[in-house]
Amino acid sequence: MSKTASVTVIGLGPMGQAMAHAYLDRGYRVTVWNRAPARADALVARGAVRAASAGEALAANELVVLSLTDYDAMYAVLGGADPAALAGRVLVNLTSDTPDKARAAAAWAAERGATQLTGGVLTPPSGIGSPDSSTFYSGPREVFEAHRAALEVLSAADHKGEDPGLAALLYQLNMVMFWTALTSYWQAVAMAGAHGLKAADILPYAKNALDLTRFLEFYTPRVDAGDHTGDVDRLAMGVASVEHVLHTATDAGVDGALPAALLGIFRRGMAAGHGADSGSSLVEVLKRPAA
Ligand code: NDP
Repeated sequence: MSKTASVTVIGLGPMGQAMAHAYLDRGYRVTVWNRAPARADALVARGAVRAASAGEALAANELVVLSLTDYDAMYAVLGGADPAALAGRVLVNLTSDTPDKARAAAAWAAERGATQLTGGVLTPPSGIGSPDSSTFYSGPREVFEAHRAALEVLSAADHKGEDPGLAALLYQLNMVMFWTALTSYWQAVAMAGAHGLKAADILPYAKNALDLTRFLEFYTPRVDAGDHTGDVDRLAMGVASVEHVLHTATDAGVDGALPAALLGIFRRGMAAGHGADSGSSLVEVLKRPAA
């Protein structure tokens, strides 16, 4: 077991509950606190200690795992506690939010004598406790290493750097790809359904379409070199293709908001003079907010 054989978990939504259960499974002494106390009941029945307040939960252990909705919730919870309770604590903040908020929270913690390790958890609650799941961490490496074994109870632990915003950034990059890709699948299912096809009918094609590995490997070195040569694809072709998608959706009475949004981005690329360039030129368009 790690140097820290005891841990506090604050925030017992589905993630925090899974984390506290994982620590109990591994024999840790676990102190828990949640705004709605009933969410701790099953954990207390397994031997967890219910803290009477967030301050008491902080006082119980050096290592404090935070699993809250966002950083505003963190300030609501920790800001009300006696500031002295934060001194010397390692706050493993597995709350997702923006990189800037993670950096501000790390500074806020440091002003109170605590250290934040920011985490970005890449698994749903069902994956907590498995070494096949992973979590990005950033913050002081020596603090990460000192608590590595305790962090690895939750998932594989991958330290990415000292900047407390980095883990949050990598998590958000993961999320923008995850949500847009998954929503593209929901769009395809809706369009298929309008033609009498079920999700199961399109599963093989969906798996193939969403495996973008060969495209990522092809475009990555070009994009990093600023090379948007239109030798294998052209943005003008992409515009025509997305128009076909939009019309296939609307002709079937299906919502067209997603392809219309795509078309808007593609047309901005055309307006910027990228019609004969690769669709990768959209990276240049997306670097700036729409006018
Ligand atoms: P939930 O939003 O379901 O629960 C979060 C916790 O935050 C609850 O304990 C809730 O308390 C507490 N909370 C929210 N607002 C306040 C507040 N103002 N004051 C005090 N407590 C508050 O989140 P999850 O458990 O699903 O996720 C936790 C974090 O992990 C989130 O940041 C999420 O983005 C991230 N995450 C979640 C994944 C998932 O699949 N669920 C996957 C990867 C990351 P109460 O019970 O009293 O409402």
